[in-house]
Amino acid sequence: MDCIFCKIIAGEIPSKKAYEDEYMLAFHDINPQAPVHILVIPKAHIPSVDGVNADNSTVVAKIFETIPKIAKEAGLTNGYRVITNCGDDACQTVKHLHFHIMGGKKLPENMG
Ligand code: AMP
Ligand code: ZN
Repeated sequence: MDCIFCKIIAGEIPSKKAYEDEYMLAFHDINPQAPVHILVIPKAHIPSVDGVNADNSTVVAKIFETIPKIAKEAGLTNGYRVITNCGDDACQTVKHLHFHIMGGKKLPENMG
C-alpha cells in the first residue's frame, strides 16, 4: 500500500520517534506548527476518523490513554491541543489516521 505513514511504521521512511508500543507509533512532525508537534498513529492502517468502527476502535482508546504520557514526556506541562483532520474540508493530507499533539506555546484560539 502506498501510504507514507505505513512506510514510517515499517521503518522504510525515517522518523524521529517519541513513543512506540504494539498499537501505535508517535513521532515528531516533519513540518512543526508549534514548538512541540507530535503525530500519533495507529499501527493498523485506518484512513481517517471516518474509518473508525467497532472492530478497530480499541486502538483509538489506547492512543487516547497514552497521549497524556507522550505529552508529559515531551514537556507539555501547561496544556496541549489534540487535533485530527478528516477529509478534504479539514485539509487531511495523509490518509492514515493521525492525531496531532501540539503545544509548547499559547496556541491561537481560532480553530478555523
Ligand atoms: P494532516 O494535514 O492532518 O493530514 O497532517 C499530515 C501531517 O503529516 C503534516 O503535519 C505533515 O507535516 C506531516 N508529515 C508528512 N510527512 C511526514 C513525515 N515523513 N514525517 C513526519 N511528518 C510528516
Ligand atoms: Zn497507512
